[in-house]
Amino acid sequence: MLGLMQDWPLLCHRIIDHAARIHGSQEVVSRSVEGPIHRTTYAEIRSRALKVAQRLDRDGIKLGDRVATIAWNTWRHLECWYGIMGIGAVCHTVNPRLFPDQIAWIVNHAEDRIVITDLTFVPILEKIAGSLPSVERYVVLTDKAHMPQTTLKNAVAYEDWIAEVDGNFAWKEFDENTAAAMCYTSGTTGDPKGVLYSHRSNVLHALMANNKDSLGASASDTMLPVVPLFHANSWGIAFSAPSMGTKLVMPGAKLDGASVYELMDTEKVTITAGVPTVWLMLLNHMANNKLSLPSLKLVVCGGSAMPRSMIKAFADMGIESRHAWGMTEMSPIGTLAALKPPFDKLEGDKKLDVQQTQGYPPFGVEMKITDDEGKELPWDGKTFGRLKVSGPAVAKAYFRVDSNILDKEGYFDTGDVATIDEAAYMRITDRSKDVIKSGGEWISSIDLENLAVGHPKVAEAAVIGIAHPKWDERPLLIVQLKDGQTATREEILGYMDGKIAKWWMPDDVTFVSAIPHTATGKILKTALRDQFKDYTLPTAAA
Ligand code: AMP
Repeated sequence: MLGLMQDWPLLCHRIIDHAARIHGSQEVVSRSVEGPIHRTTYAEIRSRALKVAQRLDRDGIKLGDRVATIAWNTWRHLECWYGIMGIGAVCHTVNPRLFPDQIAWIVNHAEDRIVITDLTFVPILEKIAGSLPSVERYVVLTDKAHMPQTTLKNAVAYEDWIAEVDGNFAWKEFDENTAAAMCYTSGTTGDPKGVLYSHRSNVLHALMANNKDSLGASASDTMLPVVPLFHANSWGIAFSAPSMGTKLVMPGAKLDGASVYELMDTEKVTITAGVPTVWLMLLNHMANNKLSLPSLKLVVCGGSAMPRSMIKAFADMGIESRHAWGMTEMSPIGTLAALKPPFDKLEGDKKLDVQQTQGYPPFGVEMKITDDEGKELPWDGKTFGRLKVSGPAVAKAYFRVDSNILDKEGYFDTGDVATIDEAAYMRITDRSKDVIKSGGEWISSIDLENLAVGHPKVAEAAVIGIAHPKWDERPLLIVQLKDGQTATREEILGYMDGKIAKWWMPDDVTFVSAIPHTATGKILKTALRDQFKDYTLPTAAA
């Protein structure tokens, strides 16, 4: 027997309809790429998104066509998201930090018909436009006054483009399983892979993000997503914030500590989300200038492991931080380290121990750990295994890649190695390809890195496995010191000694001026492995 409830498709544009009707005067504040602060409302965002939809429709963009955005977090970018999705086209967010030839590869693979971009990226696009045959026109997110001279095909200023229609338009109707958005994984090896979100998966993900132990923003919160709209589906914030009527503060092109601080301070931001690198810059700026953020309640931090010292630095200012784990393939929320009973009563180091885990999943994500043969491993907080996930907002295939990515039970292998404890808190110990295999046992490179960055002179640390005649691999610690600091190998190892198992201690420490990163801010281990491929550990000679 079927239920007798309404057939109400879960469509992304219903979120902006809701925001405009119920929270119409709620503000969306942006630092514009041109410079000044811009203020608008959800009601206005919706009416301009309808113009984007109408204008795309007039340009012949149809259901399933891909429209790329290469842009910072601003109100115009948000309007484009809803405008593109509202006619059943696919909003393909491209990460501008990729190398130009990677951008070209992705745009060609997606066969984007229109590219919508910020002023910042016009010069990059001019260089590669000749090798982007599918692109029919470029829309620059600015007005006539700021529109540059450009060689880009059919280039038009966004404000002029949408001024050509009246906004008297209705969203198109289609099934909730229709593709809504696409994001390519950063892929440190091999070609990037396109993850294709559906309307249904995005709406369900927004509901998951809204739960109090997840991002948990309400209509009385002000949220600043430092995480870009182009990184992993904006962590869902482009949907979850409007669905709750949360005030949004968009940082535009300026993500340095001083600029982010200034916006947080003037707009009285209560919740923010971003990767550890961003918080490092913010914390340094605040410490150097003796600043505080009394309005800030919650910092959500994910994308790579949140160092313990960072959790503590926020806690010392009375700010809660919430460590999160996820990935592009998961829309991206996987787990969050909210404190559930009895851990909510903990203090000091014991509390940090729990906050430093990657946390437990909200309803809508299921997880398991298995060995290499797929056998499930116990949730004892000690046994490492391959972390696999399933849920309505988890990918089942990649765009135009003809291979099955799920196991027999329908779980997706995340490529991460993790433990899960009795209380369901998950702890990432490594990427499966980064874990150090020493004498048949696994050493977590992430644990060593987290420990090393706790040293007051260390800015960033990376650990890679170096071939060893006896143990197969042993850890090499690569350290970038804070500006103006000097340190010795013995000083760093002395700091780590006693805090980890003896056999986990790195066999050597080497200092570099800069640790390389991927376009999404993760340590680029492939580059480090290449740089140190001929390195001989002092223990290897013995
Ligand atoms: P991306 O799809 O680019 O967001 O990358 C996802 C990957 O980033 C995950 O599979 C993890 O390896 C890593 N990652 C994300 N969040 C965390 C975290 N909190 N701690 C450790 N690694 C993380």
